[in-house]
Amino acid sequence: MNTLFVKQSPGPLSSKATRNCFGCGKTFQSVGSGICSDCRVTKARKTASTHPLLSLREGQIVGLVCKAMLNKEIAFELHLTEGTIKEYLHRIFKKLGVSNRTELAVWALTRGNQGVAEYVA
Ligand SMILES: [Zn+2]
Repeated sequence: MNTLFVKQSPGPLSSKATRNCFGCGKTFQSVGSGICSDCRVTKARKTASTHPLLSLREGQIVGLVCKAMLNKEIAFELHLTEGTIKEYLHRIFKKLGVSNRTELAVWALTRGNQGVAEYVA
């Protein structure tokens, strides 16, 4: 019997191209791009969400404004103070680029419940 044992030696790692990531600076195995896979994922996620996100609470308030409820009534409904509702509304106006509650209601009504839900985190 003439069996040949060929020992496969693990090749030196230097045969693969390692480089420093443009994004985070860490060393990674390059597959032809300048950024590591981690940074590529982050970048993709950033471009995916183009909507200005409302919090759950802000989404609720948008819904109540659409029912033509006053700040006082919204405050009562959500167990908050009228001042807090005003603060919320200002934040919502800024996020959505509207200037008053009428514009906000129009914004929401033209999108419908489903459309508005896309904006809520
Ligand atoms: Zn990176």
